[in-house]
Amino acid sequence: MRTQEQYLADLAKMRPNLYIDGKQVDRTHPMVIKGSQVIRYTFALADNPEYEPLLTTTSHISGKKINRFTHIHQSPQDLLDKQEMTRKMCNMAGGCIQRCMGCDMLNGISAAALDVDKKHGTHYYDNFMKYLEFFQENDLVAGGAQTDTKGDRAARPAQQWDPDQYLHVVERRPDGVVVRGCKVHNTMAPVADEIIVVPTRVMMEDEKDYAISFAIPADTEGLHLIVREAFSHPREDNLNAPFANIGDLESMTVFDDVFVPNERIFLNGEYEFAGNYALNFALFHRHSYTGCKPGIGDIITGTVALLADYQNVARQGHVKEKLADLISVAELVYAAGIAAGYKSTKASSGTQMPNVVFANVGRRHAGHNVYHELNVLADVAGGLSATLPMSAQWNSPLVGDYVKKYVTRKEGVSSEDNWRAFALASDILTGEYGQVMIGVAGVHGGGSPVMEDIAIMKNYDLKGKMQLAKNLAGIKT
Ligand SMILES: Cc1cc2nc3c(=O)[nH]c(=O)nc-3n(C[C@H](O)[C@H](O)[C@H](O)COP(=O)(O)OP(=O)(O)OC[C@H]3O[C@@H](n4cnc5c(N)ncnc54)[C@H](O)[C@@H]3O)c2cc1C
Repeated sequence: MRTQEQYLADLAKMRPNLYIDGKQVDRTHPMVIKGSQVIRYTFALADNPEYEPLLTTTSHISGKKINRFTHIHQSPQDLLDKQEMTRKMCNMAGGCIQRCMGCDMLNGISAAALDVDKKHGTHYYDNFMKYLEFFQENDLVAGGAQTDTKGDRAARPAQQWDPDQYLHVVERRPDGVVVRGCKVHNTMAPVADEIIVVPTRVMMEDEKDYAISFAIPADTEGLHLIVREAFSHPREDNLNAPFANIGDLESMTVFDDVFVPNERIFLNGEYEFAGNYALNFALFHRHSYTGCKPGIGDIITGTVALLADYQNVARQGHVKEKLADLISVAELVYAAGIAAGYKSTKASSGTQMPNVVFANVGRRHAGHNVYHELNVLADVAGGLSATLPMSAQWNSPLVGDYVKKYVTRKEGVSSEDNWRAFALASDILTGEYGQVMIGVAGVHGGGSPVMEDIAIMKNYDLKGKMQLAKNLAGIKT
C-alpha cells in the first residue's frame, strides 16, 4: 500500500496534461497539491488504528491487505463497511471523500463484463481482472468518467449533429482502439492516477462505437484535463481550519484521439450491454451516496447545533424541530443504504450488488432534502453566515476589535470560537467548495434526480401493489 508521500511523488512524475487558469501545468502545481488533500487522507489514515479496520480489507484475488477503495465487494458486510467508511471519512475530511469514484467504477465493471464475455466470447472480464490486480497492487486512485457532454439533449448519441458529443471509437486497430470525445464533471480526475470510462446511457444498434469502456493512465497522450477548482474562502494563518484546507478539482476531460490498448478495454461495441455498465456504476455510486450524504448531513447538523448553542437559541422549540429534521434525513438515507446492503444480491461474477430500490430511494431522499438542509443552516445561523467579516478584517489593527466585539454572542463563548463557527457556516453556505459539493453535486451527483425515479419505477413491484389493492377491494379481474 502507498503512503501519501508516494502518491504525491507518483503524481509529480506524470505528463503535464492539466490546464489551470488556461495554462498547462503538472501535478506539482500548488492548487493540485491543495486539491489532493482529501485523497491523501485515504492513504494517511489507512494505518491509523481508528480508521484502519474500515479503510483496509483483504483482496479476494491476491489475499493481500488492500485499501478498501480498491476492493470489489464480496458480501453484504463489504457493502456495509464501504458505506460506514464513506460516512466516517466524509465526517473527518469535511465533505466528499472523492476516492469512491474509482471504487464504484471498478465494482460496476466487475459486475458487467463477464456477461458480455459469456454471450460474445470476448475477454473483457479477463482484461478487467488483470487490471484490477495491477490497480490493487499499486494502490491506485481512479477518476470516473461517465458523463458525456451529450450535446442536444433531445437527440440520441448517433443523432447528434456533432458526433463527438458522446465519447466514441473513431478507429479500430489490431492492438486497440482510438477514441474521441469529452467526459465532463470528472471529480478528482486531476489528482487521479487513472481514468476509468463507462458509457453514460443505454446504446442502440447504430451506436456500437459509443458502447465503449476502458481504463487509461490519466496522463495518456491526447488526454487533456481542463480543471475547475472549488475551495472555501481563503483565511489568514491564525484563523486557519481543516474545512478551509480541503477542496475539489473537477475536470472537463478531453479525449483527442486517444489510443487505448486491447488489454485495457472492458467493452467495445457490444451495444446491448452498454446500459449495464452505465447503470451498474450509477447503482454503486448511489449506494456510496447513502454513506456520504449522511456524512455531510452530520456536518450540517453539527454546525446548526453549535451555532444554536452559541446564539443561545438551542432550547427553542423550532430549533429542536429543525435539528430533528436534519437528523431524520441523514439517518433515513443511511438506513436505506444499510437496507441496500442487507438486501444485496450477487452478480454472475460474484460482485455483491446493492439492492436497487433501497439504494435509489436513499439517494433520492438525500437529493430532495439537500436544499432543506442548507435552509435550516441558513435559518439558524442568521445573516452573519453571509456577511461575516473575513479573517483579514479580524486581524486588522483598524477594525479587528470591532469585529471581535460584534461577532460575540452569549457570555462564556470566546469571540474567536464564534467567528470560527460562523466562518464554517459561511464556507458551507457561500463558499465555492460548499456550493459545488453540497448545492450542486448534492442534486446531480450519481445522475440527475429523474434518474433515480426511473431506476425505482423500473425495479419496483408496482403490479404486486396493485394486486394487493385489488385483493383488499374484492376485485376479481
Ligand atoms: C460536482 C459534480 C461532480 C460530478 N462528478 C462526476 C464524475 O466524477 N464523473 C461523472 O461521470 N459524472 C459526474 N457528475 C455528473 C453528473 O452525474 C451529471 O451532472 C448528471 O448526470 C446530470 O448530467 P448533466 O450535468 O449533463 O445535466 P443534464 O443531463 O443536462 O440535465 C439537466 C436537466 O435536463 C434534464 N434532461 C437531460 N436530458 C434529458 C432528456 N433526454 N429527457 C428528459 N430530461 C432530460 C435532466 O433531467 C435535468 O433536469 C458530477 C456532477 C457534479 C455536479
